This record gives sequence, structure tokens and C-alpha cells, in this order.
Amino acid sequence: MKAAIIKKPGVIAIEDIETPKPAKGEILLKVDACALCGTDQRVLKGEKYVDVPIVGHEVTGTVEAVGPEVQNINIGERYAVQTVIGCGHCAWCKISRENLCENGFKAIGYQWNGGFAEYMIMPELGVKQGCLIPIPDTISDEEGTIIEPLSCCVNGMRAIPFEDNELKEVAIFGGGIIGVLNGLVAKARGAEKITILDVSQDRLDLHQKLNLPFDNFINTKKTDPVEWVKNYTNGRGMDAIVVAASVKELVPTAMEMLARAGHLSIFAGMPKSNPLENIDLNLIHYQEFHVHGANSSVERDYIEARNYIVSRKINVSALVTHTFELEDFNEAVKTQGNPASGAMKVIIKN
Ligand SMILES: [Zn+2]
Ligand SMILES: [Zn+2]
Repeated sequence: MKAAIIKKPGVIAIEDIETPKPAKGEILLKVDACALCGTDQRVLKGEKYVDVPIVGHEVTGTVEAVGPEVQNINIGERYAVQTVIGCGHCAWCKISRENLCENGFKAIGYQWNGGFAEYMIMPELGVKQGCLIPIPDTISDEEGTIIEPLSCCVNGMRAIPFEDNELKEVAIFGGGIIGVLNGLVAKARGAEKITILDVSQDRLDLHQKLNLPFDNFINTKKTDPVEWVKNYTNGRGMDAIVVAASVKELVPTAMEMLARAGHLSIFAGMPKSNPLENIDLNLIHYQEFHVHGANSSVERDYIEARNYIVSRKINVSALVTHTFELEDFNEAVKTQGNPASGAMKVIIKN
């Protein structure tokens, strides 16, 4: 099979390698589509280390072969791939919260070869854990790849009570795909208005070009977000804010923009070399803020994400701006990494 192999940081070669065979409990998937994600970019450049030469974790595939002792999964069925695989026996894994696995979860495209290849293996532990999420024929392979990042946003937003009518104004720091998907989840769950804040005018223009259903697009290079929110909400503040950019100063800034009893989701991971930041804890205390984390996603999040896409409550097709063949993997990486390319989601389609 053909696969995009990381030879060394920044050097990826399309090579012919042996197609894996499913061992006991494993599934061989024919990869139909696999989307590039920001994390993949960091791995490909050598900024982040993974254990395997093939990355790619936003995958739609069709079962090509079934290993011995697998039950209820059949050749020809289509699935989206759940990335996170827990140890299977800690307290969190036992309640299907593998993203919080006490033994550290492993993941497709990190500890197991991923989807930038013609075929990939779903390991036995993943099959047992339900990491193959069935998808219907009514959604395309490309749309199916969005289930993974969308599921992470469904998880990150889970603790925010959007169905409560008091929760109207939502702001998102970061207009990349993750900021956009967080905004779309908020909207689908009943948030009234979504404001996207980003430092890149190109990105904000792209959102409008793609007709994304957001209400305000604020360039924070030109406009002070704290002042803008004060004016826009007549001093009340935002009901919920998502920090979807790895810029830690945004957390105290967001706290200045929140309404009383507001919700703050720290979706983005911050630089591991220095994740500390000074914040005024009395803001949380006196104003009764709710602060949430977000770490990957599990089966329930994938199912909700899939259902949003299948029901068209969230329309993701506009987000797929570029499609490449595996042969042109390097070109795809370049396109996704270039802000002037107008790329939102770049997909490798087999
Ligand atoms: Zn990803
Ligand atoms: Zn575990």
C-alpha cells in the first residue's frame, strides 16, 4: 500500500510498504479520507514527537478485513475512527472516559499508525472500546473526517449549559477550524450570537466567504476585545468564552470579558515549556465564573458529533476547502500551513 512516511522532521515520502494484516481482534480499514490537523503539522515539522511513522487521526474508512475473534463488525461497513484509546481497566476507562485515562491514553496517529495511507489497523483495544463509529451513506467521506475534531468541541462544550435561555452571547478566541467548530456547536445548542475573535484578517474574511453562521468577526489586532465587548453587551459581558488559541494571555483577557456567572472553556493546550499565567482569582470567586477544560473526546462525543453532521444541524461541507490525493501529501501540508491559501480543512482522499 501507499503511505506518507515521516523519514525525518520535515521530510515526508510517499512510499510503497506492505499492507498490514489484521491480527486477533483487529480490523483493517481501507482509508477513504483523512484530514490534516494542526497537530499533524507540528509532528511533521518535528515540533512534537510521536511513536509511529504514519500520522493522521481524522479518518473515515471502510472495513477491508476482519481479524480473528472480532464480532459485530463486517467487511464493507463505513466508520469514523475514534482517536483516543484508554488502558481499558482504570476507573475512568471503566466509565468510558478514556480521555481521562489514569494510565495516559494512547491514540491513533500517535502510538498506532494513522490514516495518511491506503489502509490502517484499528488495534484490538480500540475495537473493544468502540473506537469505530458507524456512519451512514448520507454523509460523505470528507464530512466524516470532521467528526473527530467536532467531537473534541462537543466534549469541551459539554459542561456549558447552552440550553439555558440565559446563555446568549458566546465569544471564541481563535478562528481556526477548532474555533469554528466550537462556535458551530454553541449555535446548534441554542446560543443566540457567536463572536469570533482572531488576529488574522485573512481568517475572518474566509469565515465570511464560507458563509459561516456567526454574528461578529473581530480583528483583535485592530480592536481591543475587552472594550469591544463592554460596548457590545452594554457592560454585561459574554455569557461564555472559548479560548481556542494557544495564547495563555487570552485567559485573563477572557475573564475581563465574561458576564457574571459566565463560562470559560480553556480548549487550547498552552505551551508545555511555560504554561503558567497570572490570573485574578477573585474574579472567579466574586463573579462566580465557571472554568472548564477540554481534552480530546470519547465515544459519546463522537456519536453526538456524527449526529449533528448527519442531521445537518451542523453543516460541515463548506469547511472542506481543499482535497488532495495521497501522492500530493506534501502539497496538502503546504496548503494547510499557508494562511493565504484560504484553507480551512485540507483532506487527503483515497
Ligand atoms: Zn486533530
Ligand atoms: Zn485507563
